[in-house]
Amino acid sequence: MAEHLPREAGTVVVGGGTSGNVIAARLAVAGVDTLVLEAGPDFGPFGSAAWPADLLDATRLGRSHDWGYDSGDTLPTRVAFERARAIGGCSDFNGTTQTWGHRRDYDAWAAAGNPGWSADELRPLFDEATRIMRVKRYRAEELTPWQRAWYDAGTSIGLPRLETLNDLDQTTGFAPEDNNIVDGVRWNTAFAYLDPVRHLEHLRIAGRAHVDRVLVRNGRATGVVVLRDGESHVVRADRVVVCGGAYNSPQVLQRSGIGEPTLLKELGIEVVADLPGVGENLHDQPFLLMSWAGSEAMSAAMSRLRAGGWAPDEQAMAKAASSFDPDVFDMHFLPYSPTHRGEEKRWSCGVGALLPRSRGHVRIRSLDPEDKPLIDHRFLSDPEGHDAQVLAEGVEQLRAIAASPGMRDVVGCELRPGPDAADRGALLRHIRANPDNYWHPVGTCGMGPASDPDAVVGQDGQVHGIAGLSVADCSIMPTIPRATTAMPAVVIGERVARFLLATR
Ligand SMILES: Cc1cc2nc3c(=O)[nH]c(=O)nc-3n(C[C@H](O)[C@H](O)[C@H](O)COP(=O)(O)OP(=O)(O)OC[C@H]3O[C@@H](n4cnc5c(N)ncnc54)[C@H](O)[C@@H]3O)c2cc1C
Repeated sequence: MAEHLPREAGTVVVGGGTSGNVIAARLAVAGVDTLVLEAGPDFGPFGSAAWPADLLDATRLGRSHDWGYDSGDTLPTRVAFERARAIGGCSDFNGTTQTWGHRRDYDAWAAAGNPGWSADELRPLFDEATRIMRVKRYRAEELTPWQRAWYDAGTSIGLPRLETLNDLDQTTGFAPEDNNIVDGVRWNTAFAYLDPVRHLEHLRIAGRAHVDRVLVRNGRATGVVVLRDGESHVVRADRVVVCGGAYNSPQVLQRSGIGEPTLLKELGIEVVADLPGVGENLHDQPFLLMSWAGSEAMSAAMSRLRAGGWAPDEQAMAKAASSFDPDVFDMHFLPYSPTHRGEEKRWSCGVGALLPRSRGHVRIRSLDPEDKPLIDHRFLSDPEGHDAQVLAEGVEQLRAIAASPGMRDVVGCELRPGPDAADRGALLRHIRANPDNYWHPVGTCGMGPASDPDAVVGQDGQVHGIAGLSVADCSIMPTIPRATTAMPAVVIGERVARFLLATR
């Protein structure tokens, strides 16, 4: 741990989050002098008393140390866009579901001019990341009664029961999730990747170090400006790897003069690279949480389980197909039964539309790094109405499962969207009035060849036109895979680290 902020380093990693810790660990093991600058605290290794209980507790999502982002008035209702501000990043917050997606997702990245990212090339990295993140597979017998009821009843609409969702050639089905939980603890990337290398002298980790911007001279990154304890410092570096996540990496680039020139000039920022794709192409999988009244039998069964201890809110998931993607799958169904989110959400199942067509943006509003940016997801804004239609089909499929023999008595009557949104038209109105996110923002520093005017980084993570500057996190995904994004974020770290080491 670095109590004092070093003044120089070989490589600076901006953000000790999900991808950033993978990059830092891989570079450090290879002997590279590496400094991680994390805006939130570094709580130290696993076992340190400084780790907040909510970031460790794998039965619920983490809450403390949030960046505090939300939709502002860009959506009909104010939606929180939670992001962890602490070592581990969103791997401290997430539901620990580890999914991979489908081969078509990654083959499309490679086909768009990104060699090295095809499904077959990434497959060994998924295996390696799964091992290091200590991912284990739940068995059907371990599901809670609520999860088990959905898993069993999924067959009523033709969703086969699977052992795992993580087969890149697989299509639809319901399965217990693969999770990175060790003895009840959410096994974040700080534990998985940093702990084994924390003893290395040439790895330094500085918490409470908020990177304002990257310094660029003659087309080359030369270091960063960091805010710590209210003071601004310069850290010189041979190379900078920005791993701030899909909301924050574009902000760091924009403050550094890398982005859309009009936006930068309006804020008085000198343009060092004209890359209009910075902050654009923001997308997440729109999500709708359905809920039911529940039943006495289900309440009693869940209470018995909770009295015995272990009852995670989520640990089963389905991959389902809408009419837009009948050959593969384009929806997740997620049974969810939190006790801490009010009665309305007590008995829930969510639907996520995995291949959204709507695109939004992230834009800084000032030079102050603590000023919240404009995060405008433009959920459900695609002109064909594809995204809303997929959610509507998902709701209809979940309604069919809920109405199947045996399930009807388990779930009780539907509360949300409820009887007022029975037909397709009313359902679409409900969906449009209640857009929500699935916590998987991506795309804001998209990867692609230099010939693509919207691309921000090349296939190796290198920012186009700036030597010694890379981005490696969910922001570089050109399109979101049919997956939750935690494991793909780790794989991005593994992939870009190999590129960085190859060009050292
Ligand atoms: C509540 C929630 C639940 C989720 N559930 C799941 C799930 O069950 N399964 C799943 O697969 N995915 C889930 N996700 C999504 C997944 O966790 C994220 O997509 C992934 O962790 C993002 O990784 P990242 O490296 O891109 O960013 P992050 O992990 O967010 O890392 C970014 C890091 O950079 C730091 N940082 C940012 N800006 C700066 C700066 N300027 N200076 C210094 N440091 C900076 C941040 O503090 C953070 O530590 C969930 C996300 C959330 C929020």
